[in-house]
Amino acid sequence: MERAKIRLCVEHPLGAGQAVPLDPDQANYLFAVMRLGVGARVALFNGRDGEWTAEVAEAHKKRGILVCIEQAAPQLAPPDLWLIFAPIKKERTDFIVEKATELGCAKVLPVQTEFTNSARIRKDRLQAHAREAAEQCLGTFVPPVEDLQPLAKLLAGWDPARRILWADEALAGPAETLAGLPPGPWAILIGPEGGFSEPEREKLRGLDFVTPVSLGPRILRADTAVCAAITLWQSTLGDWR
Ligand code: SAM
Repeated sequence: MERAKIRLCVEHPLGAGQAVPLDPDQANYLFAVMRLGVGARVALFNGRDGEWTAEVAEAHKKRGILVCIEQAAPQLAPPDLWLIFAPIKKERTDFIVEKATELGCAKVLPVQTEFTNSARIRKDRLQAHAREAAEQCLGTFVPPVEDLQPLAKLLAGWDPARRILWADEALAGPAETLAGLPPGPWAILIGPEGGFSEPEREKLRGLDFVTPVSLGPRILRADTAVCAAITLWQSTLGDWR
């Protein structure tokens, strides 16, 4: 069976014959925007059960029911890579979460650093961006977006078994190779527009589980740095090899 083109991330469990009720937004999208009717095929995933081809059984303006027919793709988790980043302007923060999902991060952790310009995030909005990105990139996994927390607090409770790849703008110069770094769980740390403060830099330098890296000779915007660092990690330690 051909994979359905329209993909939807749902909360409901998925399995053969499983009826999946739609919320008003999803019904509006499928039946008003995409103009699907009874019998149309849609790809569903929920982050746990892989991708399922489902058929529209009921189509109303603000509700509907899809029924799962067969599994179209198995559940695939990204490598064990987390992204720690300091939120920047709204659209650029949305972009960061979208790209972290597409490029293959398992968790997104926004942190407040000394020079973070944004004191709040809309976690629900960022989570919705992660869901939409997974829908677009044929992913079956949606990385959870955590609450905003101070970087110092995160580091104080950090499990040293997970190494941190710290993109340190002070090292800007020849790009690094990550070959030789141990496999296993990692997190990438990217700073805000203002970079890291000297006390933060000193703290990070003193932690055994932190590896500082350069992302090349130019200073990148934070959103570009996120993409560059994930690409570097994925191509040497992740699932792009
Ligand atoms: N205001 C800072 C400065 O002028 O040095 C630049 C901060 S940069 C816009 C935002 C973040 O991207 C940095 O904190 C760092 O994590 C990362 N970054 C940007 N360019 C980098 C590079 N060449 N090497 C390592 N990290 C970089």
